Amino acid sequence: MGNPYRALPSVDALLAEPSLKRLNNRELAAGIAREAIEAARLAIADGGEQPSRASIAADAARRAERALEAPLRPLINATGVILHTNLGRAPLAEEAIEAMAGVSRGYSNLEYDAGTGRRGSRHDILEPLLCRLTGAEAAMAVNNNAAAVLLALSALAANREVVISRGQLVEIGGGFRVPDVMRQSRARLVEVGTTNRTRAADYAAAITAKTAALMRVHPSNFRISGFAESVEVGEMGALARGHGVLLIDDVGSGCLLDTARYGLPPEPTPQASIAAGAHVVLFSGDKLLGGPQGGLVAGARGAIERMRRHPLARAVRLDKASIAGLAATLRLYADGRAEERVPVWRMIAMPLAELEARARAIASAIGGAEVRAGSSMIGGGSLPEAGLRAALVALPGARAASGVAARLRARGVVPRIEDGRVLIDPRTIAPGDDARVAAACREALGAGMG
Ligand SMILES: *Cc1c(COP(=O)(O)O)cnc(C)c1O
Repeated sequence: MGNPYRALPSVDALLAEPSLKRLNNRELAAGIAREAIEAARLAIADGGEQPSRASIAADAARRAERALEAPLRPLINATGVILHTNLGRAPLAEEAIEAMAGVSRGYSNLEYDAGTGRRGSRHDILEPLLCRLTGAEAAMAVNNNAAAVLLALSALAANREVVISRGQLVEIGGGFRVPDVMRQSRARLVEVGTTNRTRAADYAAAITAKTAALMRVHPSNFRISGFAESVEVGEMGALARGHGVLLIDDVGSGCLLDTARYGLPPEPTPQASIAAGAHVVLFSGDKLLGGPQGGLVAGARGAIERMRRHPLARAVRLDKASIAGLAATLRLYADGRAEERVPVWRMIAMPLAELEARARAIASAIGGAEVRAGSSMIGGGSLPEAGLRAALVALPGARAASGVAARLRARGVVPRIEDGRVLIDPRTIAPGDDARVAAACREALGAGMG
């Protein structure tokens, strides 16, 4: 036997293989050929068998495929968590998708006043819709709500004090902690009250000549219950005005509709905050609002102007596709069609009877699955304790749930596992995908029996 390394194919020889020959980018092809040869070299060094030319070519083909496959792919959300942050939060209304595609394809009036032919501001685009929907006199939008909070504190309270309840010094997830954002903005945090109880007198006693604002943060993803007390936004607004300081209100999810109509607990709305006298209200575009990612800001003209002019506004500005998608989504609210057209609200409003019928159809297409009562969740840090009554498909086989779930995920369907059973919640599945989900379940179960 000769030197096993000598028997390895050359880079040029591998480049002639169909999988690499097909690649337009010859540098990419050569890089992949070298990687495949290096992997074979390592296998020999590890004392493995001499890799065949065919196995090295197959390895190169796999590497070529992986190098060019789309890294961000659609998945079907069968978890029943409507605003699943890890799965990309809100699916968009068709109107929003069309608007985003349309504005991306060519040029637009993003920063251009077509009437005068002069430069315009991207901040002006969403302002009229946001003002109409929230009752505010001015508005703007940035990249996400975390950026909106950072910008508001930086522009309105740097080197001054912001008074906030200890019960609202929350972590929202993904590293967004109110005290850290506050430090980053150079606003000085003044904590008042206790974890469970804060009164108006606590805020009043903390206001000094150095105070820039009172701040309220909706503790979106948890609830303090029992012996608890917090100050209503109306009372905070009156307090702020009485002392000549601002009220900054981070309401979180941007819920523009009344959740009570859907049997859900109340969620703070931007319009209620504005009516209560908040000077700046901040909320996400892609939570209960149901649009693309964004941080929306509505409030008093003077405060919004200071935010627009702050250097950070440029660093956290929103791109044209998101502005177009948010505008299209907000127009659906303005037109009273949000429940019918915005997927998040369509999912929330979906009648139980319809969910039961879809669950039965999916279960019978799978075979051996059963329909059981359960609940769907809002998610995205909104309404943590509120479930929506749901009809779930429980896949057969109490054992091997994690294996079945893994095979489902490999087929692009993300299920829920509860009490050791794989569950499918039709609420978060687009109705047109029901048959695909049933087929994926059949395959995932069948593959486990072989
Ligand atoms: C979700 C949330 C944020 C962060 O919003 P993003 O749009 O995810 O950046 C900030 N504050 C509150 C109260 C939230 O619920």
